[in-house]
Amino acid sequence: PSPVSSVKKGKITKNSISLSWQEPDRPNGIILEYEIKYFEKDQEMSYTIIKSKETTITADGLKPGAVYVFQIRARTAAGYGGFSRRFEFETSPVSVAASSDQSQIPIIVVSVTVGVILLAVVIGFLLSGSCCDHGCGWASSLRAVAYPSLTWRCGYSKAKQDPEEEKMHFHNGHIKLPGVRTYIDPHTYEDPNQAVHEFAKEIEASCITIERVIGAGEFGEVCSGRLKLQGKRELPVAIKTLKVGYTEKQRRDFLGEASIMGQFDHPNIIHLEGVVTKSKPVMIVTEYMENGSLDTFLKKNDGQFTVIQLVGMLRGIASGMKYLSDMGYVHRDLAARNILINSNLVCKVSDFGLSRVLEDDPEAAYTTRGGKIPIRWTAPEAIAFRKFTSASDVWSYGIVMWEVMSYGERPYWEMTNQDVIKAVEEGYRLPSPMDCPAALYQLMLDCWQKDRNSRPKFDEIVSMLDKLIRNPSSLKTLVNASSRVSNLLVEHSPVGSGAYRSVGEWLEAIKMGRYTEIFMENGYSSMDAVAQVTLEDLRRLGVTLVGHQKKIMNSLQEMKVQLVNGMVPL
Ligand code: AMP
Repeated sequence: PSPVSSVKKGKITKNSISLSWQEPDRPNGIILEYEIKYFEKDQEMSYTIIKSKETTITADGLKPGAVYVFQIRARTAAGYGGFSRRFEFETSPVSVAASSDQSQIPIIVVSVTVGVILLAVVIGFLLSGSCCDHGCGWASSLRAVAYPSLTWRCGYSKAKQDPEEEKMHFHNGHIKLPGVRTYIDPHTYEDPNQAVHEFAKEIEASCITIERVIGAGEFGEVCSGRLKLQGKRELPVAIKTLKVGYTEKQRRDFLGEASIMGQFDHPNIIHLEGVVTKSKPVMIVTEYMENGSLDTFLKKNDGQFTVIQLVGMLRGIASGMKYLSDMGYVHRDLAARNILINSNLVCKVSDFGLSRVLEDDPEAAYTTRGGKIPIRWTAPEAIAFRKFTSASDVWSYGIVMWEVMSYGERPYWEMTNQDVIKAVEEGYRLPSPMDCPAALYQLMLDCWQKDRNSRPKFDEIVSMLDKLIRNPSSLKTLVNASSRVSNLLVEHSPVGSGAYRSVGEWLEAIKMGRYTEIFMENGYSSMDAVAQVTLEDLRRLGVTLVGHQKKIMNSLQEMKVQLVNGMVPL
């Protein structure tokens, strides 16, 4: 693993220092534990080592008013990474410890917060209840004095209905409880410029060198380049630019992504370096991901990775999504095209936005209710009544698992959106990708439970994938070829002879005509016979190239899917 690069101090008392840190940028495996070495400054000969499975520790038994030096390193199955640079923190001095002990601060903040909430509950009760004949004037003027920026009445009654909304409301009111980091919707800022400057660092254009164009975004080109900030080493970066002639709304939406991204700090979430807003073009600068977007990368490298590598990618994505859901952020457009992958195969969630995300996504289609939704990736309740939650993100995550395990195949192939909605509603699900471990396909099916409360949570998905990675033999059992076929979005009806008139015509159509003779010689001379072909059969027939096996099996699946959805006349 690469060294831990950021260490933050937590609670400090006269005898103890609490620390927390971020997982290394390049873990290169599962982190099994951390080793924390510390010593009193200038007393390096006498040091203490603590081991921790968590990314937090408390060092106690320390001297008051003394500076301590900390270094942390991570261990994976491959061994220890390098130690971090030295971080120095000082314990509280004895004299002020009793009165200014920092450990008291969270307690005070909690007490004040609880007090404020209790008061709000009482006022909410007064405002909504029977006291109105004589109580309202008093209560509302008290509210105006005490809480000028909050609408408590609305917040409280909403909170009674739906705990999720309560959370949202409090975010919107910008109240942050100590220790709970939550996402703040930049829409709640009257001035969007204030939001972007609260969450993103302004970078001077002269610090950026643009090298080449690497992609096209809705608002302008995406380029690669370098960022050199004073006192820091030069970094490779991606630069999104806002094209000239933009409207105020476009500028606001463009920078909205930076206001969201800037709130996140996690190794599996794309990292924002900063924004350029004081000169033109307006730019968003992020870390550079050498391998670009995950769907394209997988298509280009079909069949090239071990199962463990693929599961490692999935683990990273799940870990990023766990972080987002803990922050109260619902992504709504989780798909392999919105994941970026770097040269170490670390996957990071990207494409944050408000309404913008879905409007930009070429996969998003308008629903009858006017919303724009990437149907193939979206949970049924989000399509039907726009119930977007972390549980609907889990559904999308299942689709991403399927995309990864099938190297970037298009979910539901060429079925129309309407047919996808219908099939999913009727209880059909995507079949297992080829050569997919049974445990992974089962996890996909769990993510696609109709009842959103029965789907696993992201933390459970991360633990499950960790278990599989630690015990690779658990990935050896593959979904076997024949049950793979029966897991189709399909009843066991044979492939219709209506689709193609002969085996030869079918193989020609998928550019596999070279196998016609072998098929005929081995008794697969009708489309009905072909319908029974399994992967093992193909191997036996000498179809050894993985790409050809996939083409043939996928074409068979597609025909069956079309049959079920009544698209192919029989
Ligand atoms: P987006 O507008 O975010 O979808 O970006 C458009 C395309 O630019 C993506 O599909 C990627 O191929 C590329 N891209 C965006 N951000 C990065 C990045 N941080 N590193 C490398 N390529 C990127």
